[in-house]
Order: sequence, then structure tokens, then C-alpha cells
Amino acid sequence: MVKKKLAIKTYGCQMNVYDSERIIGLLQQADYELTDDVQQAHLVLLNTCSVREKADQKFYSELGRLKRVKQQRSDMLIGVCGCIPQRARGEILERAPYVDLVFGTLNVSRVLELVRQMEESDGPVMEITDKVLDDDLGALPVTRDSHVTAFVSVMHGCNKRCSFCVVPNTRGPQVSRPMPVILDEIRHLARAGYKEVTLLGQNVDAYGVDFRPRSIDFADLLEAVNAIEGIERIRFVTSHPLDFTQRLIDAMASLDKVCESLHLPFQAGADRILKLMRRGYTAAGYRDLISRIREAVPDIALTTDVIVGFPGETEAEFLQTRRMLEWVRYDSIFLFNYSDRPDTVAPGMPDQIPHAVKQRRFDGLINMQKRISLAANLPYEGQTFEVLVEGPSKKNSAKLTGRTRTNKIVNFSGDDALIGTLVPVHITHAGLYALDGELAVVATFPPVLIS
Ligand code: SAM
Repeated sequence: MVKKKLAIKTYGCQMNVYDSERIIGLLQQADYELTDDVQQAHLVLLNTCSVREKADQKFYSELGRLKRVKQQRSDMLIGVCGCIPQRARGEILERAPYVDLVFGTLNVSRVLELVRQMEESDGPVMEITDKVLDDDLGALPVTRDSHVTAFVSVMHGCNKRCSFCVVPNTRGPQVSRPMPVILDEIRHLARAGYKEVTLLGQNVDAYGVDFRPRSIDFADLLEAVNAIEGIERIRFVTSHPLDFTQRLIDAMASLDKVCESLHLPFQAGADRILKLMRRGYTAAGYRDLISRIREAVPDIALTTDVIVGFPGETEAEFLQTRRMLEWVRYDSIFLFNYSDRPDTVAPGMPDQIPHAVKQRRFDGLINMQKRISLAANLPYEGQTFEVLVEGPSKKNSAKLTGRTRTNKIVNFSGDDALIGTLVPVHITHAGLYALDGELAVVATFPPVLIS
């Protein structure tokens, strides 16, 4: 049977990457094979992100490009899934009636059935649900890019109501996956040779708050994953400062497989802005949390999300954000210009900040952070670190790439047989985004001859 070709473009966060891996796994069962070439594809699927306005704009211009390809290729089908349809629903088919399939973030497990319906139907097929349909994510076939490191979802949705954020509208309320289901999925990964898992969720540290009775929390989950044989490293993303308990800090410090790396968004440095954002913590509270984390895990690498130009942000308040970056000295940051999102509270707030002001604040922070990030990497030079080898480097396929426990990318020369193993790498050069190194020779001692 001739295989049909599937091209999938994934936008946005790791959650979308995780969903795409499942979509590909399922569609391979329907005799689709993956291609990078849209021109060749029978089905082009856009897995969309809606978190910022730019993501929406990018999506509609990509859709316009696909329309032109489709005009030349009558056998090509276009599908749209992910966060934009979940939020915008019928709007996609209104704006782009040439789209053949639309489904939401909670319909991923139904993709096989939906694609079959689409192939047999004369008109477009659309399915968008608001409720988590099942929890057999782990049982779905999946095609992952890596054979070394894997994403594992620990929850759907988000219960927070940040005034700027569209996520609760695109992924629904928080539903934690049962712990036995998550552990089964990870045991399966360990048996398949995976060495690292990244536990995924909008607020992973709120894991379990929706269980009735509320019996377990994220620290319990980490402890259980830590006990799985074969898994060598555990990461997780994203955490919310409000849910980051001392119990969780202690778990990070005591569990040997939990890596010394944490993404903890603070968003803004001024208390008034944090309140308008509905984040639920103060700048002093956030600093206290960072101090306690650093005390428990001294070598931890910290990253964060920051928004500049939130409605009403004064110059003085922006400087408080700048001061937070100077005080914490993050290893790296994700910086965003505030953008209005539909059905959120912030667009209705007074004193919206002009784009030019946002951009000036953005550029100033990025330049400062580049200096901080480089300074954070320089001490790695001359030292040897354990690196989990992930595969050939994307930039130079003659080299291997991997990560330290602190999540720094390391490129070095070595044999492909090292992929999937933990090796010591001596760092020879620290750049802004990655480190260069060479395999360190592990000292082995000759056996002592006893005569
Ligand atoms: N759930 C996480 C949290 O609340 O910390 C992350 C949510 S979001 C997927 C990732 C980041 O996008 C946020 O932390 C925030 O910095 C940024 N973001 C979300 N909405 C935004 C908006 N309307 N404008 C600019 N940045 C935004």
C-alpha cells in the first residue's frame, strides 16, 4: 500500500510538541509517513499556539501560504489543531473555508478517527471538546524525535486566572493525570531505553490539588519517578511560584535524579503589577523562595519568564523588573512584550503601553540578560560535567550534543555509540547559548598485582 505523506508544523510550548508526538504516532497507524516537505504532503497539520498575538498572526500567514499550495495540489488536505481552534472555534473555518479538519487540544486521542472522517467527507470536519476525554495518553502510540529524553504530561489545563493569559481558555481547567498512569508511561519509557523524562504541565507544582481527597502532591510524584530503574534524570516545567512548597524544595534537594535546573516564571518585579496580573505573590515573596531554593540546591540553574509593558507599567515599575533580573542572575530568560489576548482581563485595563516603549524596555533587558547569561556560563570553562548525550549536534552533525544536569547544551566530538549514555565532558569554551567541550578521560587504575 502506498503511504500518504504527513507534514506537521508545531508552534509554541512543549505541551504542543508532546501532542504532536502523539498525533504522528497515531497517524502512522493510518498509513501516513512523515515528511518535512509541505509540497509533497497529502495532509498538512498545523499544531497552533495562541499564547501571544504574534503566534496568532504567524498562524494565519502560514495558512495563507498553504492555501496557495493547495490551489496547485487538489489532493492536499489541511488540518488545524492545538490552542487556536480550542479558543477561536468556528472562526478558523469562517476565515479559511479551505481548511479540511479542525480539532482542539483535548481531541488529540481522536485524531485517527477524525482524519478518516475527513477523508470520506465532502466538507470540513471539526471537533472541539471542553472536557478531558480520557486519560490513556500513555497508551497511545507515539513517535518521538529523541530516543534518549521524553516529555511526559502530568496534567491537562490550568486553574490559575492570570489576567494576561489565554491558557485556561485553550487548555481548560487543571486535571491531574493519575499517578499510576504517569508511572506506567515512564516505566515503559525506561524499558525502551529512555534516560531522561521532563514532566510537563502548566503548573506542575500544583499537581494533585484537583484530586479528591487530596492525597498526593508533586513532591510525591517526583519521589515515585525517582525510584524508576533506568531513568537517570528528571526535569519538570512549568512551575508557579505560588505552588512551590518547602516540601518540594526538600524533594529537589534529596532526590538524586532530579536535575539542578528550574524554570520559575516571575513575570514582573513590581508588586502593583503582580497584583494586576493576578499572580498571587509579591516580589519579596519570590526572592525569599529563590533564596530557600538556592540554600537547598546551591548549584541550581534558574530560568524564568518575564513580561514587559503590562498595562499601566510605569518606568519605575519596569526598573523593579530589571532589578529582579540583576538580583537573581538567571541563567537565561524568556522575555515577552505584553500582548492583548482575547477573553482575558488585561486588555480592558487602563494605560496600555505603546509598542515603542515596550520594545525599548525589551531591548534593554535582553542586552543586560545576555551579559548575565554569559557570566553564568563562563565558570563552566575548565571544569568537567556529566553530560547526557542526546544525538548529533543540529548545527554541526560531526559533533555530538547533550546537556549538563543544569540544562546547559554541550557540543563535543565523540562516537555515535555514546548517544543515550552519561559521559564526563571537559568544558573548553563557554558561549552565550552553548558550551564546547571534549570527552574527559575517566581515570582507571591498573589492577594491583598481588604476588
Ligand atoms: N503556566 C505558566 C505560568 O503561569 O507561569 C506559563 C504560561 S505561558 C504558556 C508561557 C509564558 O508566556 C508566560 O509565563 C508569560 O510570560 C508569557 N505570556 C503569556 N501570556 C502573555 C501575553 N498575553 N503577553 C505576553 N506574554 C505572555
